[in-house]
This record gives sequence, C-alpha cells and structure tokens, in this order.
Amino acid sequence: MPILVMKFGGTSVADLARIRNAAGKVAEEVARGNDVIVIVSAMAGRTNELVGWVDGIAPLHDAREYDAVVSSGENITAGLMALTLQDMDIPARSWQGWQVPLRTSSAHGAARILDIPRDNLDAKFAEGMKVAVVAGFQGISPEGRITTLGRGGSDTTAVAFAAAFDAVRCDIYTDVDGVYTADPRICDGARRLDRIAFEEMLELASLGAKVLQTRSVELAMRYKVPLRVLSSFEQTDETSGTVVCDEEETMESRVVSGVAHSRDEAKITLLSVADRPGIAAAIFGPLAEAGVNVDMIVQNISEDGRTDMTFSCPVGQLERARKAMTDARDRGDFRFVELVTDTGVAKVSVVGIGMRSHAGVAARMFQALAREGINIKVITTSEIKISVLIDRKYMELAVQALHDAFELDKIP
Ligand code: ASP
Ligand code: MG
Repeated sequence: MPILVMKFGGTSVADLARIRNAAGKVAEEVARGNDVIVIVSAMAGRTNELVGWVDGIAPLHDAREYDAVVSSGENITAGLMALTLQDMDIPARSWQGWQVPLRTSSAHGAARILDIPRDNLDAKFAEGMKVAVVAGFQGISPEGRITTLGRGGSDTTAVAFAAAFDAVRCDIYTDVDGVYTADPRICDGARRLDRIAFEEMLELASLGAKVLQTRSVELAMRYKVPLRVLSSFEQTDETSGTVVCDEEETMESRVVSGVAHSRDEAKITLLSVADRPGIAAAIFGPLAEAGVNVDMIVQNISEDGRTDMTFSCPVGQLERARKAMTDARDRGDFRFVELVTDTGVAKVSVVGIGMRSHAGVAARMFQALAREGINIKVITTSEIKISVLIDRKYMELAVQALHDAFELDKIP
C-alpha cells in the first residue's frame, strides 16, 4: 500500500467540527487506496496557553518539565482525531511520540530527530489499520524523557515520517491555500505558486514567510520528500495547493519567485571600533554566546584605523545584544565610542533560483526602490536572494513596488 502523510496545523483542528472536517479529508485519501499517517498539531492557541502556564510558574524553568507540559496539546488532538476516524468506520489508532518511538536528541525545547523505526506502525498497518494518527512536535530522548522539536515542529515531524516511511507525498494542511509570491494581506496581485523549489521555499521560510517551519523544508530537501501546502478549509483535489519540490521539477524558470518581508528587525551600530584583526570575532563571539541571531552585517571603510560596525537582529533580541556589547566593552574586549540602535526597520527580500543565471536582478530591485524614494540602509545577498533593510514605514510600499517590478502578478 502506498503511504501518504497528511499534517493538520492548529487552526485546522481548532475544534471538534474542524477535526471532523480534517478527518473527512483523511477519509477521501483512504478511499483512494492510501494508508495514511496523520500528524496533528495542538488545537489552535493551546500550545501558547501551555507555554504561558509554564512561564507563569518559573520564567527560568526546567526544560524537561517544559517539554512534559507543552507536548501535551498534541496528545489531545491525536486521540480526538483517532476517535473521529473510528466514528467514520475507518480503522485508526493514535500514537504519542514515545510510542512510535520518534527518537530525538536531549536538547529539550529544540530537539533534533534521530530516528523513526517503522516496525510498530508497519505491524499495525499489516493488521488492517488504515490510519495512524501521530502527535506532532514531540519525541523521546535517549534518557527516556519527552522532548519537543521547537515551535512549529509538527511540520518537521510530518516530513520526518514521510522520509522514514517512503511516503508518496507529505501534504501540509493549513489555513492558507498555498505559498504566495508575496503576503496577500499587504500585496495586491499576490499569486499562489503551483510549484516552488526547495531552495526558494527555504529562503522564504527563513525570511519570515510563516507557512512552513524552516527545519521541515531542510529535511524535505535532504530526503527529497515532495511537500504540498494546501488549505483544510476548501475543497481540495490532486491539483490543489503549492508543491515544494526539486528544482528540476519546477516547470518555468522564473528569475524571481517571491518577495518576502520581515517586520521585526532592529539595527545596531557600534561607532568607532578599532579596525584590526580579531575585532569582528571579539564583537560577534559574545553576541553568539548571548543567543543573538545576527542577520545582516556591514563594516564601513576605516579612517585612521577605526571603523563602524553595523548588524541587524530580531527586535526582541535588541536588549540582549546591547548587554552583550556593553559587557564585552566593560571587560575590555574592545572599545567603541557609542552604540546606536534603530528599532524602526524592516527587511524586504526578493528570492528566486533564476538569479543564479540572470544578471541585473539587484539593479532592477534598487531602481524600483529608488523610484519610490525608499532609502536602503543595509544590503545582503546570497546566490538566490537579495535582502535590504529599510525604514519599517515603507515596508508595504517596498513589497508592492518589487512585486510590480518583477511582474509577479503575471505568473500564470
Ligand atoms: N503546537 C506546536 C506549536 O504551536 C507545534 C506545531 O503546531 O507545529 O508550536
Ligand atoms: Mg505551523
């Protein structure tokens, strides 16, 4: 029997009616002749509530007990989904992570998946079970404790099961009907893409397009698991949604496939640091130790042996970054004259594998921003992406201008 993996996110299982609706989609796939592994998230809002309870007791909590609490939302949904399927006369059984077992590292709160042995589920499928409903987001550590995979981790659970069971596909059901060329809420003419390459999806996911957890896309790319993103709130068939797949399988070669944005950025500049070997290491070492996710970096041309160093990070990490820098200065690691912060910035990026073979993408991007009078503060590039940091008040204008400049509304 071919195995299909279907994953339902929190909004798709938010109440009993929605669980029944999702079960209906599973029933359709069983009727098509598939054995199905269903991965479920917690009901919408549930994980946040559980995290809130843990934080309410102790902000610096024991990570093992955090996992014991926050993993529980998925257990409820898994049981309810199995009951709903049974009620529809479909042989179904629920599994918590440890029962499968989904083996992980012991990095509580952000565990890595090590292994998913097939034996237990395969034996049940051989006995006639049609659907295994598995609680997403959770596993078991080598020490035998419950672990969780990090927020949004059910996507990664789904892809890992698809890889372990050689699934024909991994369908991710959510509250949007696919991956768009830009966020439709801020960009008129944003189009749903039929197909997108893994690399592009990876960039879009890490740039703040929140459809899929970044790790799940990495895993899908590594194991070549065809992924499909589709809506659980609409009638769906084999052609619905967006397929995330290998580059060779994406039909058209577009130069740019999407415009991404990320609102919550901050910019920090250290004025007048010494320009000598080791200074960047002295600055970015303590930032890394403080858990600051540094994104863009610019170093100015130096004058009289001194230079300015600018970097960006999520706005929520700004105070941590400031403390790491002033502590390092007080320790005498390096000196700066002033630390200047800017919390009113946003990042806008264009992404496309076509950039590898097409020149002029940067010029076209910068011209489009210039026409709107938008000043660029920082620029970074990768092989398939160009990002700029701009004033946040121009973010939506910039997204729209770039969408127009690359004619993304004309994508068929
Ligand atoms: N329920 C978890 C979360 O909200 C995992 C997931 O839904 O993917 O992060
Ligand atoms: Mg999610």
